[in-house]
Amino acid sequence: MLIFREIADLRAHIAEQRLAGKTIGFVPTMGALHEGHLDLIHSSNGASDVTVCSIFVNPAQFNEQSDFDSYPIRLEEDAEKLESAHCDVLYIPAVNDIYPEGEYEKPDFDFGGLDRRMEGEFRPGHFVGVGEVIKRFLEILDCDKIFLGEKDFQQVLIIKSVIDQFGFDVEVVPVPTKREKDGLAMSSRNLLLKPEARKSANKIYETLRWIKNNFEAENMDKILEEASRRINESPALEVEYLSFANAQTLDFLKNEKEEPVVVCTAVWAEGVRLIDNIVVK
Ligand code: AMP
Repeated sequence: MLIFREIADLRAHIAEQRLAGKTIGFVPTMGALHEGHLDLIHSSNGASDVTVCSIFVNPAQFNEQSDFDSYPIRLEEDAEKLESAHCDVLYIPAVNDIYPEGEYEKPDFDFGGLDRRMEGEFRPGHFVGVGEVIKRFLEILDCDKIFLGEKDFQQVLIIKSVIDQFGFDVEVVPVPTKREKDGLAMSSRNLLLKPEARKSANKIYETLRWIKNNFEAENMDKILEEASRRINESPALEVEYLSFANAQTLDFLKNEKEEPVVVCTAVWAEGVRLIDNIVVK
């Protein structure tokens, strides 16, 4: 695996690969890699000639300084995991490469309100930060496909929107959520969970599955009420939001059971914020 820190070196390598007729798959990450990230690498390997993974803890997408400061960083371990997963290129930019001081201009995005619902409502500015970093990466990195985890369901739609808004010729490939044995969605933030919170955190996916199983039989408001109760029953957990939405637009749904439906949630687990979702139909 080649490791690049300089934009010029990365671009020269990708240009060379392109000249040789190779296709490029891109997997953006913030590091502290787990098997969920490696699934994205495997998907890219299966669909592209060259897989490029980036590790960049993007300051623009953190709405809490303390969350940014405590974000786990494991560069050496990450590089080993990527090597074992047969990733071809690791790109580790500096903040000034992505947001060059004095030159960088914040883009104007129009997410049509998608950036203000659910995660957007509770993490103001988060999706503009995601949009900024993805736009910069796609400018720097000439790729054919970008591989994104469905765990961050809303983020997939936001990134599709960035691609449409700026006319990038890149295909989005969503990859299913990888879970721990007890159902908890893998996340770099799981490293920060205290023992009691970790023990209870399986309740989140258990409840999402309960929602899916009871979706046809029950009224949607009642389902959400009972589901929140089930999660909040654990002293270590507190639901921040739990909502049904149209799985294509993320418009909130009240009782429209005919649409493609996803249920998304954010849950606080003793100071650590966990998100998850399940496509109900
Ligand atoms: P992050 O490093 O958290 O920014 O995530 C980088 C990419 O990995 C994003 O596309 C995430 O959606 C994806 N990802 C994170 N956790 C998982 C998981 N458990 N399963 C599949 N993809 C994931």
